[in-house]
Amino acid sequence: MLLQRNYKFWFCTGSQDLYGDECLRHVAQHSREIVDALNRSGMLPYEVVWKPTLITNELIRKTFNEANADEECAGVITWMHTFSPAKSWILGLQEYRKPLMHLHTQYNEEIPYDSIDMDFMNENQAAHGDREYGHIVSRMRIERKVVVGHWSDPVVVGKIASWMRTAVGIMESSHIRVMRVADNMRNVAVTEGDKVEAQIKFGWEVDAYPVNEIAESVGAVSVSDVNALVDEYYDKYDILLEGRDPAEFRKHVAVQAQIEIGFERFLQEKNYQAIVTHFGDLGALKQLPGLAIQRLEEKGYGFGAEGDWKVAAMVRLMKVMTAGMKDAKGTSMLEDYTYNLVKGKEGILQAHMLEICPSIADGPISIKCQPLSMGDREDPARLVFTSKEGKGIATSLIDLGNRFRLIINDVECKKVEKPMPKLPVATNYWTPMPDMYTGAEAWILAGGAHHTAFTYDLTAEQMGDWAAAMGIEAVYIDKDTKIRDFKRDLMLGEIFYR
Ligand code: MN
Repeated sequence: MLLQRNYKFWFCTGSQDLYGDECLRHVAQHSREIVDALNRSGMLPYEVVWKPTLITNELIRKTFNEANADEECAGVITWMHTFSPAKSWILGLQEYRKPLMHLHTQYNEEIPYDSIDMDFMNENQAAHGDREYGHIVSRMRIERKVVVGHWSDPVVVGKIASWMRTAVGIMESSHIRVMRVADNMRNVAVTEGDKVEAQIKFGWEVDAYPVNEIAESVGAVSVSDVNALVDEYYDKYDILLEGRDPAEFRKHVAVQAQIEIGFERFLQEKNYQAIVTHFGDLGALKQLPGLAIQRLEEKGYGFGAEGDWKVAAMVRLMKVMTAGMKDAKGTSMLEDYTYNLVKGKEGILQAHMLEICPSIADGPISIKCQPLSMGDREDPARLVFTSKEGKGIATSLIDLGNRFRLIINDVECKKVEKPMPKLPVATNYWTPMPDMYTGAEAWILAGGAHHTAFTYDLTAEQMGDWAAAMGIEAVYIDKDTKIRDFKRDLMLGEIFYR
């Protein structure tokens, strides 16, 4: 359910007819060789498609418009093998609407010292032609990714791979549809936002439904379907009865199985990829969706709690950007809950009432059934686990009244020192970069929320490039953050993003 299309990227090489047919034959041959090598590298998440060398204004314009029209094309990678006068690119670039990469590479890796002559230099002058092309893209203020280096270098191929995921995020953003079954939690500010502006900027459709409409879909799930899913849960997860009656426990779990199936059918039927709930608005639902939401998130749905549609859409976006990733470590909604402020061990315990995605789990996953301290429903079943160690990013998209800002914090996920046997929820634990104190200070100055969209599998650069493509401000909190510089960045943002 993650991607709706089999995305591909076009590889377009620029040249001109000044250097003769033999040169153009070489240009085409070289660019084919590069495309083959990129596809054979095994490092790219999507296929690169070779396109005939672009040498005239008409062909450039036609090719970019074909890229616009091709539903499977998620972006164009451009490279000037020789010199290509950049006025030729103006109309094509003006009409092009998809992600753009400028791969600043060269066919040969080393200068051929013994044989180099003027013919060779004219044929292999990306250092020259790519500057002419780069100039016009900058002059036209077009967002693009510039990647520099030899095409055989795994670092360069890795950068192309990383950008491809960003490009797919840009393309897929406008296919994200969020279903809300409740409005925003009363009086809460940071989860609010301008949904009209979000649709203009990000392409997100955010719709509300009465909770009882989805509760009807839950009520319509057959007992046999519920029992089959409960059996699957009991096979897959550890059951922690903690003194509860096994039959009663199973009944509680069955309520979540029914919610999972009923919600998923409703989402599929109405074509939504993200969901928002609210513990205070459950209608005919017997439990707050816990285990059910956790399973849906693992399948690729976005989720936000307490009416938080921005986090729901961001989690979905990150799931899409990491689709099909080998050895992915996981993506989830999280919430900054409580601190450890012991010197040298500082960190933030991340959790939520229930709804953390098991894709981030490390080790065994258990089902517990415990009372919820809020709301008025029966004790919900939930998946409980701790999360993987390692680097991740926590992001918060906020509405500042006149614009959106994306806050991106590099975080280091760790194990807590001791088990927490009485805590009946899934957790993660991290120290924000550059350190707990600076990280939290910067986050608060930037206006970041308590809910975050978190992933181990994307970088701040990828999310920042996505934000740039959406035309919104991104601020980074990482190893280089200093509060004085960070405050200046925020002030510059106030001027630039009006
Ligand atoms: Mn919350």
